[in-house]
Amino acid sequence: MAVERTLSIIKPDATRRNLTGKIIDKFESAGLRVVAQKRARWSQADAEKFYAVHAERPFYNDLVAFMTSGPIVLQVLEGEGAVAKNREVMGATNPADAAVGTIRKEFAESIEANSVHGSDSAENAAIEIAMCFSDGEIVG
Ligand code: ADP
Ligand code: MG
Repeated sequence: MAVERTLSIIKPDATRRNLTGKIIDKFESAGLRVVAQKRARWSQADAEKFYAVHAERPFYNDLVAFMTSGPIVLQVLEGEGAVAKNREVMGATNPADAAVGTIRKEFAESIEANSVHGSDSAENAAIEIAMCFSDGEIVG
């Protein structure tokens, strides 16, 4: 399998509860490397743009409000099959369905406040990484 990059976001519910270290440990322990990282506070426009793909979903407005409710940590993760590996470490969208040992099973508060975002395909990973980082911020 090829070395890939994927976008990861630690969401406001997790920064609020001081869980960033525990969450990053899950990625690193699974063999993913943090090659870019920054803490940010999204504006409404930032969140609307990032989640534009979900604009027609009933939860969109709540999701934008949630993602702007506190600081987030944006990261690029790199590794063999990083897109699928990150999704595996994150667990299912709804923590009630997430496997034991996954980030969402251990830390998520709800289907909305589910602690992490991860790109769902290599194509979307490239788009999301470009939205959140300049080339010079990805430092290995
Ligand atoms: P994932 O983050 O697992 O890729 P989606 O792309 O389907 O999930 O949804 C994006 C985000 O929208 C989820 O991570 C979650 O924060 C929120 N969300 C998804 N489904 C719901 C829902 N039914 N109710 C409230 N929020 C939701
Ligand atoms: Mg998604």
